Amino acid sequence: MNTTTTPDPQLPELFSDLQLDSRILQAVRDMGYEKLTPIQAKAIPLLLDGRDIMGAAQTGTGKTAAFSLPILQQLLPLASTSVSPARHPVRALMLAPTRELADQVYVNLKAYAKHTPLRCACVFGGMDMAPQTAELRKGVELLVATPGRLLDHVEAKTVNLSQVRFVVLDEADRMLDIGFLPDLQRILSYLPKERTTLLFSATFSPEIKRLAQSYLQNPLLVEVARPNATATNVEQRVYRVDEDDKRAALEQLLRDNDLPQVIVFVNSRLGAGRLARALERDGVKAAAMHGDKSQAERLATLDAFKRGEIQALVATDVAARGLDIAELPGVVNYDVPFNAEDYVHRIGRTGRAGASGLAITLATARDARGLADIEKLIKRQFEPQTLELRRSSRPRREFESPRREFDTPRREPVSPRRDAEAPLAPRPTRPARSARHDPWFDKPYEADPNASPIWDHSTGSTDAGAAAPGTAGAGRARRKVATLLGGQGKG
Ligand code: AMP
Repeated sequence: MNTTTTPDPQLPELFSDLQLDSRILQAVRDMGYEKLTPIQAKAIPLLLDGRDIMGAAQTGTGKTAAFSLPILQQLLPLASTSVSPARHPVRALMLAPTRELADQVYVNLKAYAKHTPLRCACVFGGMDMAPQTAELRKGVELLVATPGRLLDHVEAKTVNLSQVRFVVLDEADRMLDIGFLPDLQRILSYLPKERTTLLFSATFSPEIKRLAQSYLQNPLLVEVARPNATATNVEQRVYRVDEDDKRAALEQLLRDNDLPQVIVFVNSRLGAGRLARALERDGVKAAAMHGDKSQAERLATLDAFKRGEIQALVATDVAARGLDIAELPGVVNYDVPFNAEDYVHRIGRTGRAGASGLAITLATARDARGLADIEKLIKRQFEPQTLELRRSSRPRREFESPRREFDTPRREPVSPRRDAEAPLAPRPTRPARSARHDPWFDKPYEADPNASPIWDHSTGSTDAGAAAPGTAGAGRARRKVATLLGGQGKG
């Protein structure tokens, strides 16, 4: 397929820089928008030129306006104030994977079209077809739909797609995940060949590329940088290691990456204490931060860390949530977290306020499922690397330590032939809370109230903070988190 990456000419900055009808500009003003988001600045001029587009942008980037406004602009000459349904055929079709996303697109679209005679409707499954049918029968130019329900209407002959000039496949990757490919193919086969086709997707898997190749004509690829990569600038690396080599790997990585200070995340209090002691023995200034420490100890540790007297703060998730440590150059996931959301909280500790950061994850054969969960949440594939351990950096194995019987629980043997891509091993379950649980540690990580939206041009900053899983904001948090990390969350 002949995709071209968009050149970066002088991009427009403001909506008023665009060749948009005054009625559309008024609607945009009503929404309170003035500046274009990056996807809007890139996509709108191309769409006004009639190009097919593959957009790599997620929900939250302003992509709905990016495709809606130029479509409205191009349909305006065909707009009619007649009451006759025949004068309002479906001319633009926007397909979305879920009812929620379809509704979200519809609400925005209606707001952008409100000063024009163009009509919008939305149809999705799980609802009575009768009211949808009544609306379709009156005639609508812009139809937002989930694929299955649209086909129900096509079969019931309550909608005619023969005059569609624009089709948008929104969150195409999710539509394929859900299994909508056959429905999409059927719908696309009903549409006129002469049309503009736009495909938005967070990821471009071979299936998505095939879909684009079959149904788009010379599309331009429009990308907006993943918010996590640019705004927080966190480099995420995964190293495959054997369980027994984790400590050596950590020490080598700290040296090789010139990381003067890191938070090292572990999954248990016992593990935190043990690792901090082991690092100290190997000459790394380290301290543990976990729920068995008193408030005074925790504050003293934190102060020492902030003064730079500690290089590695070994912490459990709950202990680290409330910490506000600016400009932390790196975090290490010594253990892959039990919950994928914790990964996002962890790496949100580095690369804050536009600074660059490094997030290293050590993954053993047992972590394949955990990594897969994280990849699913952040909508991004890791490329695990193998770490060659230098002999000198191999600390004494714990079984050589005379203290082993006191501070090292018996490990399950790990097959050396398994690696992070091996078939999934059962995941360890989260240990039960101890009776000594301290609620101080449950304090959720507080998002910075001054954080800018993810498309903020001025600071480029982002906020990876979100409500803790299990709190009232967790649903929103999951979406926000996925969006921030390059995914799209729940639409
Ligand atoms: P979307 O990615 O289309 O779901 O948009 C995310 C949110 O950003 C929606 O609430 C839009 O109303 C809002 N939005 C879209 N474009 C802009 C803009 N240029 N300025 C400010 N907010 C916007």
